[in-house]
Amino acid sequence: MAEKIEGSQSYVFYMDVRTPGKNYEEFYKRATEEYGAKYIRGRVSKVYPQGDKLVVRGEDTLIGRQVEVEADMVVLATAMVAQPDAAEVARRLGFSYDANNFFTEAHPKLRPVETNTGGIFLAGACQGPKDIPDTVAQASAAAAKICALFSKDQMATDPMVSIVDESKCSGCLLCKPICPYKAIDGKKITERVNGKVLERVVATVNSGLCHGCGACTVACRPGALNLKGFSNEQILAEVEALCL
Ligand SMILES: Cc1cc2nc3c(=O)[nH]c(=O)nc-3n(C[C@H](O)[C@H](O)[C@H](O)COP(=O)(O)OP(=O)(O)OC[C@H]3O[C@@H](n4cnc5c(N)ncnc54)[C@H](O)[C@@H]3O)c2cc1C
Ligand code: SF4
Ligand code: SF4
Repeated sequence: MAEKIEGSQSYVFYMDVRTPGKNYEEFYKRATEEYGAKYIRGRVSKVYPQGDKLVVRGEDTLIGRQVEVEADMVVLATAMVAQPDAAEVARRLGFSYDANNFFTEAHPKLRPVETNTGGIFLAGACQGPKDIPDTVAQASAAAAKICALFSKDQMATDPMVSIVDESKCSGCLLCKPICPYKAIDGKKITERVNGKVLERVVATVNSGLCHGCGACTVACRPGALNLKGFSNEQILAEVEALCL
């Protein structure tokens, strides 16, 4: 404020000052040392008009006294919150979000701009409160990841994906809501039964989205779903080899 309005005096009521990031401590010091902003540790209890001024009443916890500041302008520092529909967006697209409805990255250190759902990337304040430099860095990283995806003619995926045995599948689609990555859908197939051509629905797994978690395989009652490399037969053979 003092930078914009010469001779003005700023007061900042605070409970905790944190300055993470490059040059942020210097920014805070410039406000206090160069521009003389006064930081008062305590909460504001009331703001009320008095004449042509606004009176801010609060507590200075460091001296243990109530203080009042007559101000020309009061700026309220409100919390940055997620969009009200953020959780619904995450649920529909099939990736996770935290307790504050900010979207969750696949791995905070190793996959900071990716979600667990293939092809969906994160950038900016939807993932958590952040400033413009961090937003731009994350958006650039997400763009680079997407360019890398499109630079190939074919996409390499993990071979351990779920597969459907259509002859066993009843088409109940109970497996569909169980998949956390929205990799399962229904599809229509035609088959010849007793000389008649019949149409029916079976489950199908999008191998580009499947993460091989195995959740669907245990949910399928007829045993139509199997994980490549970890099929029921392979697991039983391993148990037999180890235990018998
Ligand atoms: C009061 C305030 C002051 C700030 N001052 C600074 C500062 O001085 N310096 C600094 O570095 N950072 C500052 N920031 C932080 C900065 O604003 C953010 O880091 C930055 O805006 C994040 O960019 P973004 O693109 O992720 O989100 P946004 O800029 O919020 O853009 C998200 C866009 O998505 C749209 N949107 C949301 N939901 C949907 C939906 N469902 N469908 C379609 N569109 C949707 C929104 O309308 C919006 O246009 C400040 C933030 C606030 C709140
Ligand atoms: S794979 Fe199993 S659970 Fe899924 S639709 Fe077919 S029978 Fe139902
Ligand atoms: S193995 Fe996991 S990710 Fe793959 S289809 Fe089944 S539930 Fe979805």
